Amino acid sequence: MKQEKKRRFTLLDVMNLSEADCKKQLAFNRWGDTVSCPYCEHDKCYTTKERYKCAKCRKLFSVRVGTPFEDSKIPLKKWFIAMYFVTHHSKPISSHQLAKDIEVTQRTAWFMLHRIRHTLVDNGLEDKLEGIVECDETYVGGKNRNRHWDKKVPHSQGRSFKDKTPVFGMLERDGKVRAFKVPNTKKKTLEPIIKKHIKKGSKVMTDEYRVYSDLHFDYTHKKVHHNRGQYVVGEAHTNTIEGFWSLFKRGILGIHHNVSRKHMNLYVNEAEYKYNTREMKGQKKFNKILKSDKQLSYSKLTK
Ligand SMILES: [Zn+2]
Repeated sequence: MKQEKKRRFTLLDVMNLSEADCKKQLAFNRWGDTVSCPYCEHDKCYTTKERYKCAKCRKLFSVRVGTPFEDSKIPLKKWFIAMYFVTHHSKPISSHQLAKDIEVTQRTAWFMLHRIRHTLVDNGLEDKLEGIVECDETYVGGKNRNRHWDKKVPHSQGRSFKDKTPVFGMLERDGKVRAFKVPNTKKKTLEPIIKKHIKKGSKVMTDEYRVYSDLHFDYTHKKVHHNRGQYVVGEAHTNTIEGFWSLFKRGILGIHHNVSRKHMNLYVNEAEYKYNTREMKGQKKFNKILKSDKQLSYSKLTK
């Protein structure tokens, strides 16, 4: 007999889960077979009707305590659907769309998406990037933010546009990207970031921007002169990171519309996560969220 192929995890699977199923799945992902107390880590806990009770510290807790869903009154099933969209769709979903899909207010949907994105942030910052690393800065937002993306303006006075948010990125060719919102793109801001994240001796590719002028002390520094119409000189180019920026901007432009400066990092994280997990299966990402202990309070997000 022909063996049945392993089925893909789909939105229908999520839709068929009851709230109790979701709780079970969350419990299994975070604890496996042995429930561990989130307060004292003791591994003997009793199951009561809706909760667990620790045999040692006697505290009662629900499966949500210590997860990204703690303090949320939204049913887990709605969370699971939102997580499915974030982990399985190639394009980001807007809070307006999510609000309609799962019947919550737009504000709630916005908060849920931020919380989910927050759990997806890469923690592997201790590993330095190496090999060939492309560095570049870009500017997001601004007055015409719905229509106009002003990337680098050659010969402009510095690259600081007051109403735009500067974002700096470093991309390992055939590897990971790391990007952050930065206060400005001055040498004293960018150089320490580069040194912190890129292994000494790596090959660093940039354009001719003068903030990169001292990189040859620590790296093999190659640059392309965009202002002279140069884009690829042998292995020297910044095309890969520019491709990353255009995906990032298209996501914001087409889907999120307005992105405030304050929340920019969350969108950068989303793009970074998408890029770095481009070969990871959706279900694996979904389970990663269920294993997460990252929390983000509403007050922290809106302060
Ligand atoms: Zn305990």
